[in-house]
Amino acid sequence: MSYVFTPPVQVSVPVVGLAERFPVHRIYCVGRNYVDHALEMGGTGREAPFFFMKPADAVLVAEPGSTVAMPYPTLTSNLHHEIELVVAIGIGGSHIKAADAAKHIYGYAVGLDMTRRDLQNEMKKHGRPWSIGKGFDHSAPIGAITPAAQVFGIDSAAIHLQVNGQDRQRSNIAKLIWNVAETIEQLSAAWALQPGDLIFTGTPEGVGAVVRGDTLAGAIDGLQGIQVRME
Ligand code: MN
Repeated sequence: MSYVFTPPVQVSVPVVGLAERFPVHRIYCVGRNYVDHALEMGGTGREAPFFFMKPADAVLVAEPGSTVAMPYPTLTSNLHHEIELVVAIGIGGSHIKAADAAKHIYGYAVGLDMTRRDLQNEMKKHGRPWSIGKGFDHSAPIGAITPAAQVFGIDSAAIHLQVNGQDRQRSNIAKLIWNVAETIEQLSAAWALQPGDLIFTGTPEGVGAVVRGDTLAGAIDGLQGIQVRME
């Protein structure tokens, strides 16, 4: 096979304990999946799940033990952090039942669904797509993936984010409106999931703005934490 130009490099995420990396296929995101975040965004708190996407090359890898620089994006003056549990799919499928979802999961990671909130709000107001608010370059910082077999109690793990050492978001995965298995059931009814898909499962309350020079530290108990510096 030859191409008219050099194809892009495969986007990948490190895996805890392995030299081999996880090749990224697609990035799916769940909207408003914690009651108190849905309320802070003006929702009713509990609604059917909905999904949006980021391009695979929006991934910004936070390598274990180091701080990754995220360029402050263009066109915004209200860049928000959203700490999220990320599910990495290892075995694809369509119409996966929640009861069977676990076998499709390769592992879990800590991610940030970085959001140009001003642009997202503008698009919402006009009923337009969220892509410009959600799917921009470097909008998906993510830490190393821990294989599922090494993760215990993720369904009730603490999730939190500090900015410059101050707590901004603190909750628990148990507060997901649609849990991981239910999310996989709903998502796989709409798209055929593939190995390499990442699912950002939604953020708890406490989202807010960051500016150049801020350092974000995100963590979920049992997973590799991430550190991001805004540049
Ligand atoms: Mn989000």
